[in-house]
Amino acid sequence: MSSVQYVYSFGGGSADGRADMKNLLGGKGANLAEMANLGIPVPAGFTLTTEVCTSYYENARNYPSELGAQVDAALARVEEIMGAKFGDPVEPLLVSVRSGARSSMPGMMETVLNVGLCSATIPGLIAKTGNPRFVYDAYRRLIMMYSDVVMEKAAGIEPAEGQGIRQQLDRMLEKVKHSGGFATDADIPEGELKQLVERFKAKVREVLGTDFPDDPREQLWGGIGAVFQSWNGRRAVSYRRIEGIPDEWGTAVNVQAMVFGNMGDTSATGVAFTRNPATGDSRFYGEWLPNAQGEDVVAGIRTPNPLNEATKNDQNQHLPSLETAMPEVYRELHAIRDRLERHYTDMQDIEFTIQDGRLWMLQTRTGKRTGTAALNMAMDMLAEGLIDDRTAVMRVKPAQLDELLHPLVDPAAEKRAKPLAKGLPAGPGGAVGKVVFSAAEAVAWTKRGETVLLVREETNPEDVEGMRAAVGILTGRGGMTSHAALVARGWGKCCIVGAGALDIDVVGKTIQADGKVLREGDVLTLNGTRGLVYEGALPMIDATENPRFQEFMKLADAIRVMKVRTNADTPDDALNAIGFGAEGIGLFRTEHMFYGKGSEQPLFILRKMIMAGSEAERRAALDELFPFVKRDMKATMEVMGERPVTIRLLDPPLHEFVPQGDEERAKLAAALGITADELDRRAEELHETNPMMGHRGVRLGVTYPEISEMQFRAILEAAHELRTEGKACFPEIMVPVTGMKAELDHQKAIATRIHAELCSKYGVDAIAHLYGTMIEIPRAALTADEIARTCEFFSFGTNDLTQMTFGFSRDDIGGFLGDYLDKKILPVDPFQVIDRDSVGVLIEIAIEKGRGARPKLKVGICGEHGGEPSSVEFCHLAGMDYVSCSPFRVPIARLAAAQAQIEHPRE
Ligand code: ADP
Ligand code: MG
Ligand code: MG
Repeated sequence: MSSVQYVYSFGGGSADGRADMKNLLGGKGANLAEMANLGIPVPAGFTLTTEVCTSYYENARNYPSELGAQVDAALARVEEIMGAKFGDPVEPLLVSVRSGARSSMPGMMETVLNVGLCSATIPGLIAKTGNPRFVYDAYRRLIMMYSDVVMEKAAGIEPAEGQGIRQQLDRMLEKVKHSGGFATDADIPEGELKQLVERFKAKVREVLGTDFPDDPREQLWGGIGAVFQSWNGRRAVSYRRIEGIPDEWGTAVNVQAMVFGNMGDTSATGVAFTRNPATGDSRFYGEWLPNAQGEDVVAGIRTPNPLNEATKNDQNQHLPSLETAMPEVYRELHAIRDRLERHYTDMQDIEFTIQDGRLWMLQTRTGKRTGTAALNMAMDMLAEGLIDDRTAVMRVKPAQLDELLHPLVDPAAEKRAKPLAKGLPAGPGGAVGKVVFSAAEAVAWTKRGETVLLVREETNPEDVEGMRAAVGILTGRGGMTSHAALVARGWGKCCIVGAGALDIDVVGKTIQADGKVLREGDVLTLNGTRGLVYEGALPMIDATENPRFQEFMKLADAIRVMKVRTNADTPDDALNAIGFGAEGIGLFRTEHMFYGKGSEQPLFILRKMIMAGSEAERRAALDELFPFVKRDMKATMEVMGERPVTIRLLDPPLHEFVPQGDEERAKLAAALGITADELDRRAEELHETNPMMGHRGVRLGVTYPEISEMQFRAILEAAHELRTEGKACFPEIMVPVTGMKAELDHQKAIATRIHAELCSKYGVDAIAHLYGTMIEIPRAALTADEIARTCEFFSFGTNDLTQMTFGFSRDDIGGFLGDYLDKKILPVDPFQVIDRDSVGVLIEIAIEKGRGARPKLKVGICGEHGGEPSSVEFCHLAGMDYVSCSPFRVPIARLAAAQAQIEHPRE
């Protein structure tokens, strides 16, 4: 009989699993197996697969029937390797029960240490170690974690704020420390601990109504069940939403022999990164604590010690490094660091424990890093020969570039300002915001449109939503591996941790520092790159052109096959976009000249044109408008030089420009020589019930050919003038809102006539340009073969195309999109990420039909999607020639296009 393997063993120099089995074993389990296979010292253990989790939830929270026997067999193997027995009174084996999802969810899921300690095994462990203090310390930790994770959370008990069992026990522990005058947990003597565990057990019974289990097997299965339950805990679910991790993935459970960092001064525990995850600096970087267990470092209970001398900072300068305290172990650890980096060819985030001078590895995973670090590591590892060009290009996520281009605190202003406090630089860039003291407030204030900084003594997984909402995070405690630092780094969010000089009182909502008191709503500036906190708002600047960034982008540019253009309407935007690497303009909106700075005069003339009562009046207004339009187009084309510029004909419904104020209306009526009533009547005529689908785009040009005529003339004259001035320019005329070929033919006839007229006027054969259309109406996509007979290029207007395909109003979707995402009716906002199943299919049909009719048809996209990485990948797959996006997203699109080519090579 063959049965499914639900349990995979590791340890003793070999393992059933491997690093590439993350889907089945979770990240932690797969990497523990890999390290065991590499011969790195890993305490033996076994992994219950993610399939157990899936099956558990599919079968009303019951385990597969084979599981019990497989766990027994794996446990027996661990016992053999470790030379101890689970539940044995003489040689007791203790284990940890650890969660481990496919992709890491720091602190979101549960882990229980020291499972197997009970009245039967305590005396044996004391006799074996001769260290009763250690045993009672381990026991009190077990009670604290187990009652919290298994007896409360997994049981679905929702205690009142501050009344969780863990918090109640924590307060009892604090009290013992306080009344006995013990500085840290590690200073509490045996006698006190022994009494404390008895009081802990009484408290658990009192609060939760059940006894703390004294049977090792019950503890083990309780722990396993709790980890599976924690997959559907509130925090884990909310983290998955933010990170886009599917609910179906499930978690694995790792059961692993305990090793103890809390056995005295020759024992320790630590967390390290093979390189600095904040800056990318290639030196080994980490934190450790003597006589401590696992989570003490991450929890920010004590300020951890630095790993080595070279990476000490202001906060931990005075503390001993592992390098000096335990030189031999440090050397061994350093060798493992080198080994892991060579093996994984990437930066690793590792956990280790030293038990009585002996080193054990407890975890390795590819470390999260800031965008700056990602860039620096990619370029360093390329130079070191650890990785090749393509791998380097894959190492920076397009979204991380955003962070590299993010604002920084103006160094000049910073020089003059005096910092209020200094902490650790845990998340990059600068942030200015109002102080709030809880995650809930951070969310609420942000909803109201405020920009906030979340200030906490330390953060925990319950705070993630508030951390997300805030523009920056500041904590008083914790090191570079604390929860806040880990999460902020993953998101590339500005963050400072361990600013110890700040006295933060989250209940009273004050920060005291330097004799000052700051309150909720007061403004601070954070420099997350340097760890400096300032009072008030300091000015910010754009990240300066970093040569490393340029080099990296050059690598990406050499790989990609799609061009990247920008959507720009002014010479300034165009220049900015060229700085970001734009290779053309994919969308120049003429109507832009009627909004904002300097628009008063042309807008007034445009209004006269709109309100004209006859063609003659309209033509007179258009003649007046013409020089403005030509000047505007010419200025942007001039900046772009030899890069193509796609100029879209006037698109919006005309009524959008009708003045609303009485005074403006009176002025306009006077200029037109009509009465106010007559003007009101004409304005009323323009009113449409559904203007988004009304008289706009090409439809205006069909009704009023003279409007198109004026624009064709402006574009072609501007182009001719630039060329006679000896400048290059390549206009592409784009007709919007097209649904049928006949519309394009109608407009093309006008363009052809104007072109001929100008050629004879200037005595030239031709004024080079392209004639094309936006594809933003499903009918246009479906009849693209026809349309391509008239057009030399297509540009997909995916904003409108999405609106028309879904029947979702772009302007009103906000009212219900949240419900659709929460209820998983939509996986993502289709206005941000192209819906490949519908809009994507229309695009594919249009490209296939279009190129069928005109093989050289040029194809691009100019909707918002053109700067969104997954949509850029789609455009690559669909065979587009270019994407176009806002100037700031140009680098993101360049990188996304390169990564798409690496993953799906084209031509
Ligand atoms: P997380 O995913 O939250 O990091 P882990 O499962 O890694 O949770 O465990 C939490 C802490 O307990 C870590 O510091 C880890 O190193 C420590 N730990 C886990 N298992 C053991 C073990 N068998 N022996 C000693 N420490 C352990
Ligand atoms: Mg861990
Ligand atoms: Mg449109």
